[in-house]
Amino acid sequence: MSSQNTARPLQGRVAVITGASSGIGEATAEKLAAFGAHVYVLARRADRLADLVARIEGNSGTATAITADVTDTAAIQAAASQVVAERGGADLLLNNAGVMLPAPIEELATEQWQHQIDLNITGLMNTIGAFVTQLVKAASERGVADLINTSSIAAQNIFPNFAVYSGTKAYVTHLSRHLRVELGPKNVRVSAIEPGIVGTELQGHVTDKGAQDWLEGSRGVIEWLTPEDIADTIGFLASLPPRVNLQQVTIMPTAQQS
Ligand code: NDP
Repeated sequence: MSSQNTARPLQGRVAVITGASSGIGEATAEKLAAFGAHVYVLARRADRLADLVARIEGNSGTATAITADVTDTAAIQAAASQVVAERGGADLLLNNAGVMLPAPIEELATEQWQHQIDLNITGLMNTIGAFVTQLVKAASERGVADLINTSSIAAQNIFPNFAVYSGTKAYVTHLSRHLRVELGPKNVRVSAIEPGIVGTELQGHVTDKGAQDWLEGSRGVIEWLTPEDIADTIGFLASLPPRVNLQQVTIMPTAQQS
């Protein structure tokens, strides 16, 4: 796009980011705001979101915090209504809130199975349900909108004891491919981001000792990705010309083998 402002390529755009209070979501909010987008940052921890908004505004960006749980359908619908009322609607959704709780299946950690399914699948669908109409409308008006879903390398590779988490992420990647075919003709680009290990709060929620040891061992031999590495990639793909849709982006630490 010849008229694009290369320093602030997302100027005028309205982004919604779930899971924005830490890790990948937080770093991406800062990146997209630095690129000129107004970012709605959504998560449950209001204090973390307030700090993030202050940081973005301190760097000449604009942001709005929405404290909400993505598994609460009514709360996410209310968030979507707020975005319409304040900014006319979103044209970029980073559907990113998620949790990883590996454990051997025979431990029958059924609450953790349910938590992962509720957040990584149902929360993701709640958010798509609340915002897809806005994305389609924005795409018809401006020629492009983005639906970006955070999946994982776990959607592709096999990790012992990660079956439920990996299953939820396989859902995210496969759903994204289907939605791309459905929404692409309406100028909504759909992308699945599949990171390998990124150092965030994600690992801190793991309770299974074997998985904790495996993660700790890998930290000793692999330089993990940073949230900023993923944010840079998302900033790049959202800034591409409207005709270009990175469907599936797998981002691995260089030394991570699988
Ligand atoms: P973090 O734990 O740092 O971030 C998770 C985010 O999700 C937090 O902002 C958390 O905020 C939010 N969240 C959790 N539950 C809810 C909820 N019910 N409603 C709204 N927000 C919620 O981890 P990451 O940044 O690493 O994870 C982001 C995504 O990246 C996840 O989908 C994860 O599966 C994926 N991923 C991560 C990898 C990694 O190695 N780190 C690798 C591959 C994929 P709050 O608690 O304030 O609600």
